[in-house]
Amino acid sequence: MAAITLTDIQKRYPDGFHAVKGVSLDIADGEFVILVGPSGCGKSTLLRMIVGLEDITDGELKIGGERVNEKAPRDRQLAMVFQNYALYPHLTVAENIAFPLRLTKGQFTEAQIREKVRFAAETLELQDHLERKPANLSGGQRQRVAMGRAIVRDARAFLFDEPLSNLDAKLRGQMRTEIARMQRRMGTTTVYVTHDQTEAMTLGDRVAVLRKGELQQVASPRALYEHPVNLFVAGFIGSPPMNFVPGELSGDTLRLPFAEVPLTDDLRRRIGSRQLVIVGIRPEHFEDGTVAQRQGRTGGVTFEADVDVTEWLGSDLFAYIPFETHESVRGKLEELDRDLDGEGLRTQLVVALASDSRVRDGDRA
Ligand code: ATP
Repeated sequence: MAAITLTDIQKRYPDGFHAVKGVSLDIADGEFVILVGPSGCGKSTLLRMIVGLEDITDGELKIGGERVNEKAPRDRQLAMVFQNYALYPHLTVAENIAFPLRLTKGQFTEAQIREKVRFAAETLELQDHLERKPANLSGGQRQRVAMGRAIVRDARAFLFDEPLSNLDAKLRGQMRTEIARMQRRMGTTTVYVTHDQTEAMTLGDRVAVLRKGELQQVASPRALYEHPVNLFVAGFIGSPPMNFVPGELSGDTLRLPFAEVPLTDDLRRRIGSRQLVIVGIRPEHFEDGTVAQRQGRTGGVTFEADVDVTEWLGSDLFAYIPFETHESVRGKLEELDRDLDGEGLRTQLVVALASDSRVRDGDRA
């Protein structure tokens, strides 16, 4: 196992496209790090540079303290687990796991191969399936066979590139748990690429958020959620996404399109000398005023709004509330919104209410 250190890593493709722009990241030995970001942000490129499938244009990559920029993929001792698992359908589980060892042509005796396969199968709880063919395995078991092949090679780290993106939602959930469980059990350094924020939030010790080839923030899932460093991270992490609304300072209040919020010391400190700010409010930080009142909760800011549509999901009820932003404010906001290319400015609030809320489509609540 090994630490992976990226220092100012750059990638320019032959056509001149600058896909990765100075990424520095320290991945500790045994750590599980997720690379996440929208399509085209450079996360696969970064992973492929680590594994050696793509040249590094500039910067330094170290694995286990040693510079590996110039090393061939096979000499880096990393194991890439692909989306389709790349299992051989005509080979049994045991033969599939043993495959990389047989490729080394005589480096291992039959007894050594048997022992390595036994160890991997035990670690991955595949002992009872060793004689089966991949077609007779569940998706989760196939994933484990693919990991088994990485284990027998004594890989220093696992690299996953969107391994679950082809699966249906239910299987994806199961496999996610499985990967987390296996990684914790083996304690192998893991780098995992996804654009799925549920995977990002649930799997990793730390999450690295990329945008247009640049690292935005590297932090624990909780820290990303609670303390995003910019609008992009704030809007990318969280589902439904954080609401962004304009806030205008007016005396001792912050005027939102639908409510006036008294300025607390904390708000005042965060706003500083600005007159106009973008206010981020998580959907779950709203609640149904009627329910709050019934349960004796007071405080907070109360407002009335017309509910456009509701979605009842069993555990939550999402309500969509349109709001208007004055034209003059909109112009100034677009300047503040450089982080998001204008995408952050929404015209409706998404509000997550308790599932027993009685708010329905078309209500004034
Ligand atoms: P996705 O989630 O869609 O797979 P990604 O974040 O993994 O996206 P990459 O595959 O790393 O994105 O690609 C990053 C950028 O580099 C994209 O804009 C892509 O078009 C570009 N790119 C990838 N490969 C090449 C190439 N061989 N030549 C030129 N540009 C490339």
